Amino acid sequence: DSVFANVARAPEDPILGVTVAYNKDPSPVKLNLGVGAYRTEEGKPLVLNVVRKAEQLLVNDRSRVKEYLPIVGVADFNKLSANLILGADSPAIQGNLVTTVQCLSGTGSLRVGAEFLARHYYERTIYIPNPTWGNHTKVFTLAGLTVKTYRYYDPVTRGLNIQGLLEDLGSAPTGAIVLLHACAHNPTGVDPTLQQWEQIRQMIRSKSLLPFFDSAYQGFASGSLDGDAQSVRMFVGDGSECFIAQSYAKNMGLYGERVGALSIVCRTADVASRVESQLKLVIRPMYSNPPIHGASIVATILKDRNLYHEWTLELKAMADRIITMRKHLFDALCARGTPGDWSHIIKQIGMFTFTGLNRKQVTFMTKEYHIYMTSDGRISMAGLSSRTVPHLADAIHAAIT
Ligand code: PLP
Repeated sequence: DSVFANVARAPEDPILGVTVAYNKDPSPVKLNLGVGAYRTEEGKPLVLNVVRKAEQLLVNDRSRVKEYLPIVGVADFNKLSANLILGADSPAIQGNLVTTVQCLSGTGSLRVGAEFLARHYYERTIYIPNPTWGNHTKVFTLAGLTVKTYRYYDPVTRGLNIQGLLEDLGSAPTGAIVLLHACAHNPTGVDPTLQQWEQIRQMIRSKSLLPFFDSAYQGFASGSLDGDAQSVRMFVGDGSECFIAQSYAKNMGLYGERVGALSIVCRTADVASRVESQLKLVIRPMYSNPPIHGASIVATILKDRNLYHEWTLELKAMADRIITMRKHLFDALCARGTPGDWSHIIKQIGMFTFTGLNRKQVTFMTKEYHIYMTSDGRISMAGLSSRTVPHLADAIHAAIT
């Protein structure tokens, strides 16, 4: 018998498992709204034009070799990534208070940050929003942190529970880490207003909590890179510590290239450089050093004025298509007279709509309409098109009535 005969079968990942089920469905009208990846109006994955151009430049450059990168990755990429999220004129950057390391997309950046905290920070508890992206709990727990939740979403208003949020952070132990979605909160699509961010910032600083931003959608929420970075910049602007995990999966469409960065903003340049020396000790035994290709694409785009401009236009076009899909779906439900208030579809921000549909209704829509989504009723607006909106609206209408 196999020495692994006792290995139990693990359940599918709750998000990636949706695609597994979708792939098995032979129906021609099937629709995958589970996956958090952009699709064109034709339902196809998109490689940005500007990414193709950058890749061409890289291929044509015969001086490029395949040597190992340093442990911290591509130096230009790190500098430019910090500039992108903090703003090039940020005093933290000017004062060399920021250390940035290239990591394996957003997930890898969160994990490296968490491993560093588990080793070098005095408070092991991290507060994450309820609900949040499903992987957060696992990433932080496996890094050795204790995960607790703070109230975030109010199902009644389908908006932010700011009172509950402030109460929960207010009663957290001094120094606790707080995970914040920089913009386009996943799965709810509900973000604090700038005034609410300011309240959150004051609470976090007054309790000496440590903010850890997850920035997976910069530019994807509003179409503006600076607009979507405002929450982070507000915190960095007050001069206290801050962690930021950045992903280029969505905003540059580099999903499978696994490009991201972890930035740690410190109070002095000396601390920042010592922190970086320890980040290297975290990374070296995990994967030694990161891959070259994706980070080189990003660096090529970010450092060239024309390519950068072209990227902002393509990014805005993706964000706009998602916003248009929100309007179409909202209108389609209004036209059908579907009972209930559906205005949250147009109020929510980013890739997802948190529909409010329950598990039973989701199961019904999958069974009867071949529409796939996570069981919490989250749908990816990026997976919709003008052609498929009516089918979804029919399904929601049938599930509700
Ligand atoms: N954080 C959030 C909130 C996300 O939604 C995602 C992707 O869905 C990620 C992090 C990490 O994605 P990746 O590791 O592909 O960059």
